[in-house]
Amino acid sequence: MGIRKGTLAVALLLIIAAACQRPVLPPQSTGRPRAVVTLFPLYDFARAVAGDHAEVKMLLSPGMEPHGYEPSPSDVAGIASANLFIYTGAAMEPWVERILKSAPNPRRLTVDTSKGIVLTGDGDDGHHHEHGWDPHIWLDFENARKMVISIADAFAQADTPNTKLYKDNAAAYNKQLEELDAEFQKGLAQCATRELIHGGHYAFGYLARRYRLEYHAAYGFSPEAETSPNTMMALTKRVKASGARAVFYEELVLPKTAQAIAGEAGVPLLQLNAGHNVTREQLAGGVNFIGLMRENLENLRTGLGCE
Ligand SMILES: [Zn+2]
Repeated sequence: MGIRKGTLAVALLLIIAAACQRPVLPPQSTGRPRAVVTLFPLYDFARAVAGDHAEVKMLLSPGMEPHGYEPSPSDVAGIASANLFIYTGAAMEPWVERILKSAPNPRRLTVDTSKGIVLTGDGDDGHHHEHGWDPHIWLDFENARKMVISIADAFAQADTPNTKLYKDNAAAYNKQLEELDAEFQKGLAQCATRELIHGGHYAFGYLARRYRLEYHAAYGFSPEAETSPNTMMALTKRVKASGARAVFYEELVLPKTAQAIAGEAGVPLLQLNAGHNVTREQLAGGVNFIGLMRENLENLRTGLGCE
């Protein structure tokens, strides 16, 4: 028994030693890549790009609020062992730098999808926000296309033999994003008002800018902050003065603020979904980013009175 135990110990030591001495392999040698992504848009883009050729896991649990998110120990373990880790950018996920340091993996490719994208931030719209940069880059569909390309490049690097597949899928998906962009341009060209009044956090700055809407939100870049009675009163006045036909509310949080503004102004509530995350029911129902954005366009057209 003692001998067997000893033999086992030696064998284990040899295995450990071998593992330590093994040269660092490039990610492409690992077969079907495993990607961990943070938010729903990245999840959907990665699924569109990789299809069945990769395993894609979203870090946020369904329905979880994304701005206050901090990775759990098992999330960190998942990031540590992934072939690809894809995140929005430091403005959306400020914890990334710290986690990558604490969970190093030389074989992992890390993709900052905000790379090459111009962020807008404080002061651009004359309002004060509690964070410096607006992290909701995916809501400008030209940015979204760049993010898709970054994701496809990373999959190609992790799984070289399937490079053409990833690039072709990305091109096909980006064509859909171009069509979506054209639908927004056309659908929001002629509206009774261009003032988009949102009883949620400041998530639609990029979208509003792209389609020349004037955006007013009750909260800053993250939904954690408080709003003030003054802000709510000012938004209510704006609804009345602008002829807006609805007040918009956001996904995944109780729309108390939006309800109060809409009630005061005497207009209905309509949802605008920024897509950070989705519910379990939406996932089970096969929700996708482009579908969510089409619903947004319908609601925007109704709420702004577009022809
Ligand atoms: Zn947000």
